[in-house]
Amino acid sequence: MLDVQSIRKDFPVLSRKVNGHPLVYLDNAATSQKPSSVIQSLVDYYEGYNANVHRGVHTLSMEATDKFEEAREKVARFIGAETSESIIWTRNTSESINLVAYTWAQENIGEGDEIVLTRMEHHSNLVPWQKVARDKGARIRFIPMTDDYTLDLSDIDSIINPRTKLVSIVHVSNSIGTINPVQELTKLAKRVGAAVLIDGAQSVPHMPVDVAKLGCDFFAFSGHKMLGPTGIGVLYVKRDVLEDMEPFLRGGEMVLEVTYEDASWNDLPMRFEAGTPNIADAIGLGAAIDYLNDIGMQNVRDHEVQLTQYALNAFKELEEELILHGPVDVDVRGGIVSFHHPEVHPHDLGTILDSRGIAVRTGHHCTMPLVKSLGVSATARASFYLYNTEEEVDLLIGGLKEALRYFAHGVAPA
Ligand code: PMP
Repeated sequence: MLDVQSIRKDFPVLSRKVNGHPLVYLDNAATSQKPSSVIQSLVDYYEGYNANVHRGVHTLSMEATDKFEEAREKVARFIGAETSESIIWTRNTSESINLVAYTWAQENIGEGDEIVLTRMEHHSNLVPWQKVARDKGARIRFIPMTDDYTLDLSDIDSIINPRTKLVSIVHVSNSIGTINPVQELTKLAKRVGAAVLIDGAQSVPHMPVDVAKLGCDFFAFSGHKMLGPTGIGVLYVKRDVLEDMEPFLRGGEMVLEVTYEDASWNDLPMRFEAGTPNIADAIGLGAAIDYLNDIGMQNVRDHEVQLTQYALNAFKELEEELILHGPVDVDVRGGIVSFHHPEVHPHDLGTILDSRGIAVRTGHHCTMPLVKSLGVSATARASFYLYNTEEEVDLLIGGLKEALRYFAHGVAPA
């Protein structure tokens, strides 16, 4: 059991008021709040040892380099990577996936090849592959979804077949919360010699993840969704796959020897990090990982399972009015509850909730085709993290009741 009240004290923003009410922050799938230790790590860097990395012989530069590389080591250990050479810093999940699309895919996907995705991909793991498929004459195939919001694997042996070159799948859906069987799908992909990319934007922040156990080639995630700063993301690439990849961006830091005519490449992973990296935010992500490790990722997951079950039960009070989207079984669901009302626009629900200090996301959640396939143009989404409480779920339900009284039944808010 987490000591949530003590955890909440570590997050300065949680003590603020919004529209006269204590903030109830339920938009964690968009971005998480930051504990003081992460904020302080940024201040410490800028006040104490701000310098460029991998360049100087002076003390500040060596201190900055040590902390920056220490953060990379922390990321590697956190996700079970065998070596920190497999960890490439990017800006976010989107950039991590694009890096694979602009490097590995250019060399390894050709005419007639197939790329397998699910129908619940975030645009970040759909749009880059649309371009690769168009440019290369490859075909995208989709694993369909069942009525209970999980992947329909009944035809998987024909979808993942010897023409498949890449299986690129979301670990946990940001719109409906489904946890996909990525380990099983990786095994199927490996049987036909395909590479596997996992979009872990919504899994790494919320549950234990072990990339070596999963056996994937690529794994992408963002620091800002896991208590870290914005502007820092991670691409894990299996060491032998990375060794054969061409650099993405070219310039300073990523080279070993340069002549006027030619250049040779630096060691891994610097080969993939041209220019001055985001030093402060990488160090900040290291501090976020320290914080999560102190709590324990299984404890984070257990707390969210409990809270999601509590929320699903609480939503039963509104089952005649709201339609919920996502698996009913919390064992295959992250801490995400998406819903809509047949007549009330989610933005209207979100606005009433905001007037009570409750932050939820409304819209298509960057999964336009998925949300459309649910028969709506938008949903409202509450997403939980380690600092959320059952009382906050009650406030959400209370806010929704008031919004529905007003919009669906014409009773003005008190
Ligand atoms: N994939 C998933 C599943 C996500 O939830 C998100 C963020 N909503 C992304 C990719 C993109 O992350 P970022 O905006 O940090 O690049």
